[in-house]
Formats: sequence, structure tokens, C-alpha cells
Amino acid sequence: MRIDVLTLFPEMFDALNSSLTGRAREKGLYELHCHNIRDYSKDRHKKCDDAPFGGGAGMVMMPQPIHDCICAVDPDHTAKRIYMSPRGKVLNQRFVQELSRERHLLILCGHYEGVDQRVLDMDIDLEVSIGDYVLSGGEIPAMAVIDSVLRYVPDVLGNSESTVDESFSGQLLEYPQYTRPQEFCGIPVPEVLVSGDHAKVDKWRYEQSVEITRKNRPDLLENK
Ligand code: SAM
Repeated sequence: MRIDVLTLFPEMFDALNSSLTGRAREKGLYELHCHNIRDYSKDRHKKCDDAPFGGGAGMVMMPQPIHDCICAVDPDHTAKRIYMSPRGKVLNQRFVQELSRERHLLILCGHYEGVDQRVLDMDIDLEVSIGDYVLSGGEIPAMAVIDSVLRYVPDVLGNSESTVDESFSGQLLEYPQYTRPQEFCGIPVPEVLVSGDHAKVDKWRYEQSVEITRKNRPDLLENK
């Protein structure tokens, strides 16, 4: 998979050089290219934002640098072009899996009050939100998309089973996990987990998943 990110703050994506996303990149399992929108500004001061027509607080990202950047990066429109936006379709695990099947993603990160609507209408396929709250820029949302999508790209996860049982893989949240030592601060791990009886372990985990889902996210059970 190839991912192109358009941003005013490309250095923020250095965070993806660590952990799973960093290893996946080193192994050549995906390519990440970050493009500074400012480099495409035709303004002599490299200005990329201006006051909104109609008045109101804040600044709006100008269409020209973004349009030129998109045309340079994806001239034949082969990428799925996404704009990170609080008014977009909200990301969930199914949507993540859908995105992981794309060969090429282009992700536009907004800032200030957002992006001039004309460039969104002309150049963007899809607006994606990471939840019903507002961040100051699209960079952290873009990193959330990249990390969650890469977990479904073949060979990125060491153990291919890891996406199978986890929260949201079905309609249930994940059961509690324990590791060594068998007793910590006087608290033993649940006995069933050291019983060696796999059927009992599966049953216990299922029941715990249902209980945790009922407590924290009853809406998931209603949608079942
Ligand atoms: N004025 C915009 C509104 O009310 O919808 C909010 C702009 S926000 C301060 C700046 C940028 O952060 C947006 O253009 C978008 O790229 C990004 N952003 C903020 N919250 C987001 C969210 N929940 N999901 C995805 N992107 C978000």
C-alpha cells in the first residue's frame, strides 16, 4: 500500500517511525510520503490560509496550494482521496478494513477552520472523521487512520490472529487479558485461565466480553 499525506506539518508524521508503523515501513510493507502543502503555494510569502468570506472567526486553508499539491501527487486520480474532517463519515473497524483494501490512499489534513469547499468538491472522494469531537488539525486523525488500516495489511502484524479476537472484530469488546506473574500484589489470575481446559477458557472469555460490552458499550449489543 502507498499512502500520501498532504499537511502543513509533515514533521508530525515522524511519530510513525516507531513501533508497528515504523517496522512495517522498514520491511517495505507500505510506503508513506508526506508532502508539505506550503511548498505548493504560489504566494510569495508561501501563505496557505486566509480569512473566511462571509466573516467569522479563524482562517481557512486556501484552495490553490492544496489543489496543486493533489494534482502533483496523484495526477491520474488513482488514489482514494480522503479529507480528515469532523463532519466526515465516522471511522469504525469495518470502515478501517474497507480502507485497508485500497492500494493507494491520499490523506489531506486540514488546519485552522478547515479547507475551502471548492477544493473538497473538486478533488476529494471522501471525508473521514475519527469521532464526534474537534482536534486542532487533521494530522493526529490521519495517523489514527494509518495505524488502524496498516493492522489489516498482510504481514504487518507479527501474529495474523491478532485482529481476529480483538475489540470490534465482532460486535463485542475484548475480554480481560493476563500475563505473568500468576499472582501480582496478592491478586491471582482467574483460575480458568490456568486450567488448561480450552473450551472453558473460550466460554469464560465470551462471557467476559459480553459483560464488558454490556457495561461500557450497550449500543453495540443493541445493533447485533
Ligand atoms: N471548523 C471545523 C468544523 O467545525 O468542522 C473544524 C476545523 S478543525 C479545528 C481543523 C482540522 O482538524 C479540520 O480541518 C480537520 O482536518 C481536523 N479535524 C478536527 N477534528 C477532526 C475529527 N474529529 N476527525 C477528523 N479530522 C478532524
